[in-house]
Amino acid sequence: MKIEEITQQTLNKLNSMPADKLIKWAFENFRERAAIGTSFQLTGTVILDLASRHVKKFRVFTIDTLRLHPETYHAIKASEKKYGLTIERFMPNNDTLRNMLDRFGEYLFFTDKAKQEYCCFVRKVEPNKRALKTLDVWITGLRKDQSDYRKAVPKASIIEDDGKKILKLAPLADWNMDKIWEYIRGNNLPYNKLFDMGYDSIGCIICSTPLVKGELPRSGRWRWFSKEDDKKECGIHTNTIKN
Ligand code: SF4
Repeated sequence: MKIEEITQQTLNKLNSMPADKLIKWAFENFRERAAIGTSFQLTGTVILDLASRHVKKFRVFTIDTLRLHPETYHAIKASEKKYGLTIERFMPNNDTLRNMLDRFGEYLFFTDKAKQEYCCFVRKVEPNKRALKTLDVWITGLRKDQSDYRKAVPKASIIEDDGKKILKLAPLADWNMDKIWEYIRGNNLPYNKLFDMGYDSIGCIICSTPLVKGELPRSGRWRWFSKEDDKKECGIHTNTIKN
């Protein structure tokens, strides 16, 4: 199938599919032009497992910002071992990273929102754009209940990245944490151990912190910024959340 062949009718059909069928549909129709993008949150753990049950061979990529927690690197290795696959790693461009560090230092994200977004662009968004250039279908772990900003996320939508059309999927958009834990525990899956330490959303060291009871899942991100900033996004998904 080609991305140009996806009609509104197809999108409607995809939006009503359960997670396993949606993942299966993506790999059957787009094969190596489909890939799961995961930062080893719990949703990614579930999506990998669902894919392994319905598809023989499937692509997975991750953005290695070079500032991930040791527990996240461990989760990457554990998944590679369990599913017998090599997870593609997209990292920051060396020269761009060096330039940023020389100008602003390693901890520029504390200074202000613009510098945090710049750091996220260099370490996450640009490598993610490189990953997107290699595919037509991007399978993500976005969920509606992660934040107010994400509550409208559809299961299937066509997005554009640098002029390229991509089918973006969020198979677990309507799952909640209880359902995710039930799946992970029920199937004894290896998961990122930061989730046993109070974390509910995981990015880089320092920029992700454990939650206080009652907080929304992404409240632990960039905790030093205003509470009114409920967006809490690194930029990978900001131009793509729409209904
Ligand atoms: S989460 Fe923090 S360290 Fe990681 S890319 Fe964003 S600002 Fe930089």
